[in-house]
Amino acid sequence: MSTLYRSTRDENAEPITASQAVLQGLSPDGGLYVPTKLTKINVALENLVSLTYQELAYQILQPFFSDYTAEELRNCINAAYADNFSTPVIAPVTYYAGNAYLELFHGPTIAFKDIALQLLPHLLTTAAKKNNSTKEIVILTATSGDTGKAAMAGFANVDKTQICVFYPKDGVSPIQEKQMVTQTGNNTHVIGITGNFDVAQTNVKNIFNNKTLVKKLADRGYQFSSANSINIGRLFPQIVYYFYAYGQLIKDKKIKCGQKVNFSVPTGNFGDILAGYFAKKLGLPINKLICASNKNNVLTDFFNEGVYDKKRPFYVTSSPSMDILVSSNLERLLFYISNEDAKTTADLMSQLNTTGQYSLTDLMKANLTDFAAGYASEEQTLAEIARVYSEENVAIDPHTAVASAVANQYKKATGDLTPMIVVSTASPYKFPQTVLSALGDSTSVSGLESVKLLHEKIKTPLPETVKKLFKATTIHNTVVTPEKMEQAVKQLLLKEN
Ligand SMILES: *Cc1c(COP(=O)(O)O)cnc(C)c1O
Repeated sequence: MSTLYRSTRDENAEPITASQAVLQGLSPDGGLYVPTKLTKINVALENLVSLTYQELAYQILQPFFSDYTAEELRNCINAAYADNFSTPVIAPVTYYAGNAYLELFHGPTIAFKDIALQLLPHLLTTAAKKNNSTKEIVILTATSGDTGKAAMAGFANVDKTQICVFYPKDGVSPIQEKQMVTQTGNNTHVIGITGNFDVAQTNVKNIFNNKTLVKKLADRGYQFSSANSINIGRLFPQIVYYFYAYGQLIKDKKIKCGQKVNFSVPTGNFGDILAGYFAKKLGLPINKLICASNKNNVLTDFFNEGVYDKKRPFYVTSSPSMDILVSSNLERLLFYISNEDAKTTADLMSQLNTTGQYSLTDLMKANLTDFAAGYASEEQTLAEIARVYSEENVAIDPHTAVASAVANQYKKATGDLTPMIVVSTASPYKFPQTVLSALGDSTSVSGLESVKLLHEKIKTPLPETVKKLFKATTIHNTVVTPEKMEQAVKQLLLKEN
């Protein structure tokens, strides 16, 4: 049986195949692609214990990418999850501080986006071949810090692709910036902008939707695609680790097969937690998905009040990958909680665009019971890093700390004793200054100097990719204003001024 994809905003458009949806990224009407129907997975829960990450990935992803042959999909998966990860388990679970922690930071950029972005380039280049596309694929991406580097690490030197990353010059950590500006590869381009992530993301969407530019590029043999988490090639690979974590808890005798678990997910663009929502729809016994936000708590209000209001101050926090006011993937949730009503979804998105806010219908609110939501202030985030370190001698990164703090708030407020899995999305070495200051060792040194200090303190082995950064040289140093982003793209690809 084959799975086709349709837009969240239009019921009448002709559905397309998975490989076409991977190539296009965004639907032409501005909506996001969702499968026309979902099937339960073929793997019995008790078998989760014995499958490798790669085999489980194949079993879960095959129905979503059903126009890929078995060989094509297996090749993509085996290339993505190999010794580019520092553990053969890919996504190990550890236990401390009263929770299970699902570690998604053992890939090349030491943050969770590697899990999807090591796979996406393979899905994309395979999709191009399958659809007889002769065009060179141009990946345009706005990043709040982690996506950009992870996308470049995935796409660097991949044949017939170009990748161009925009990042907020003052909105990412020094390590994140260092990782990006030292990126090698003859097809990688990195540009800082003097604005925040939302501006970068909005302008990237505008470039995608600029028909004149798209046509001009097509004439020169280029085709845009997206590596942001709106692409189904990024979203669905994230379902795998929810199942994989569950298998590990069974194996470690923390739960019985079939028992429900909660996941606390540090959330920004709503991709990670949406994959958890799909995991539940596919049959994983999840009680609550806890949407954990930082001080930019637009999603906390969304879940608790049924109102999405982006008209609020934007804060740069210690968990920058979650500094987002417009969470793109939420549109897919709107589609499902409206019982797959494209018109309602389109109306709400248009309200958001014109008025900066929308309110859910009563039906939609009633369909939010799979979720709980909360947020951690900056003080609470730092306090959680300190608490976990002093009680358990484990240093966690600020994003993980947000999810951990919110998980504990949730347990206290509800008395819900369902086993809790906190999704741990980055290595502490990615945010050394914040972690040091949380541990009472504030330092004025930044970047790699602070990595050294943190290493001396916590003694956790330095990942190889971090060691390499010490020797890397800066290759990219362009910074433009947000208004100049389109021009920068033209300059790059069309050599136009
Ligand atoms: C991107 C990111 C998140 C947020 O994930 P979304 O899918 O955007 O909600 C959380 N933590 C880290 C470290 C990230 O890089």
